[in-house]
Amino acid sequence: MNDDNLSMTDTISTASAPAGLTAKNVAILGAGIAGLTAGYDLTKAGHRVTLFEKWPGLGGQASTFPVAGTRLERYYHHLFTSDRDEVQLMEELGIGDKLTWHESKMGIFRQGRIYNFVTPIDLLKFTAIPLIDRLRAGLIALYAQRIKDWRSLEQITAATWARRYFGEKVYAAIWGPLIRGKFGDYAEQVSMAWLWGKLALRRSLKGEGIMKEKLGYPDGSWEVINQALADAITSHGGRILLDSPVTCILPENGRACRVEVAAPGAWRLPPEEWERGEVFPGRFDAILATVPSFVFTQIVPDLSVEYRNLLSGVQYQSAVVMLLQIKHSLSPIYWLNIAEPDIPFVGLIEHTNLISPEAYEGKRFLYIANYVDKDTNPLYGMSNEALFETYLPHIQRVNPEFSQEWIEKLWVFREDAAQPIITCGYSQRIPDYRTPIAGLYLANTTQIYPEDRGTNYSVRLGRIVAQLVHEDLQASSLAKVMAPHIQEIETP
Ligand SMILES: Cc1cc2nc3c(=O)[nH]c(=O)nc-3n(C[C@H](O)[C@H](O)[C@H](O)COP(=O)(O)OP(=O)(O)OC[C@H]3O[C@@H](n4cnc5c(N)ncnc54)[C@H](O)[C@@H]3O)c2cc1C
Repeated sequence: MNDDNLSMTDTISTASAPAGLTAKNVAILGAGIAGLTAGYDLTKAGHRVTLFEKWPGLGGQASTFPVAGTRLERYYHHLFTSDRDEVQLMEELGIGDKLTWHESKMGIFRQGRIYNFVTPIDLLKFTAIPLIDRLRAGLIALYAQRIKDWRSLEQITAATWARRYFGEKVYAAIWGPLIRGKFGDYAEQVSMAWLWGKLALRRSLKGEGIMKEKLGYPDGSWEVINQALADAITSHGGRILLDSPVTCILPENGRACRVEVAAPGAWRLPPEEWERGEVFPGRFDAILATVPSFVFTQIVPDLSVEYRNLLSGVQYQSAVVMLLQIKHSLSPIYWLNIAEPDIPFVGLIEHTNLISPEAYEGKRFLYIANYVDKDTNPLYGMSNEALFETYLPHIQRVNPEFSQEWIEKLWVFREDAAQPIITCGYSQRIPDYRTPIAGLYLANTTQIYPEDRGTNYSVRLGRIVAQLVHEDLQASSLAKVMAPHIQEIETP
């Protein structure tokens, strides 16, 4: 993959496109942020886009559902001030005024107490480790921020680097729990490039940003962004087919050009249990899949063993997220990282400590976050009741007053493509956007690197791949227009 892509955020330019060459039929699989953004750019460039989405709603991992008179994400979401591509997209869509920046309250739960963890002063007050280690933690974080060449960090694990530079105590209290929380049994294999992304790219440790952190959230939830993108696609003549999972991509003469779509309701089943659907009428000039790699390998039958191995070489952690509607606030913290090895979840995210309960008819919402290996971790398959029973005594360690009586509603959501596992040498395993099948493109979170995946980077990804599809379509149109003339030139 080309590094230049990482900084390319321009929308498609049609200014140089020869008249009559732009309008092509493009299928996009997935109405997550990447698929919607690509659909927006491609319809704007004049292409006829049909977007197929498995789920009966928009937004993928950033999808929402109705709660307390408004909507809320199934998985906790916020933006960092460094998430400029998404901010720019919102402005372009005319919804820039819907993004509000809120002061964040981050904390760490360690040795039975909550520590604030936003500013350098908070770090100095983090008495869970000796003062000398706190100072070292601050200095090394600054040093890591100054490293510009992430490639030099790619071959070393985050665990090795962090133990060596931050020291064992800082690792045990801060970085170890974070890495284990995200990657579970794979924690010791995660590349330092991933941790560097968190340290160096997320927020400014200069100027105003050093003393307080602001987090962005769209007034009315991520649905505002999802819907604005969908409206822009349809107003440019595109169509979005929800509850329409693609079960097979069918090549003809070596080019991907048709799709099969399952009957409505198939989203309730895991992809391995989907039956083959009906062939969708019409041929496509290009097909862009923004689905996870494990779905892609399942719905494209003609992949070479080599390419299949490349895609399955990147594993994902699944997210298991419990959302509680609660009567009282659990703590004053919005985002509480859990740094106690025996607590069976990794974070408590009290959404209504970022956004006032007033936005939710006075109701309060708490997410209990977990990343697990779905095949080996028993939490993944537990019933909602069993999961809650498992969590309850540990939530009470954070606030002993918490009880079942506090709970008004409970949901559990599971996402299997939540976090690609970024191991050493990852850049060598990133698949290209162009797949080995002509006309077929892949754009998913496994290609986001060295940044950690997030909606901002799916916006960027959608834009990069839309540009590529557009350019390829232009080039093939041009080749067709020119072909007879080239023959004339060759055979005078
Ligand atoms: C627990 C959690 C917390 C997060 N927190 C944040 C946060 O705070 N801030 C942030 O910016 N990001 C956050 N993210 C990450 C962010 O949500 C994702 O990186 C981003 O939304 C991915 O978008 P995408 O379009 O690339 O992929 P996806 O959202 O995964 O979209 C892929 C789409 O393809 C669809 N699909 C799958 N198979 C088929 C098929 N066969 N046919 C048709 N459609 C199909 C899926 O239903 C889905 O809609 C979080 C994610 C999780 C899981």
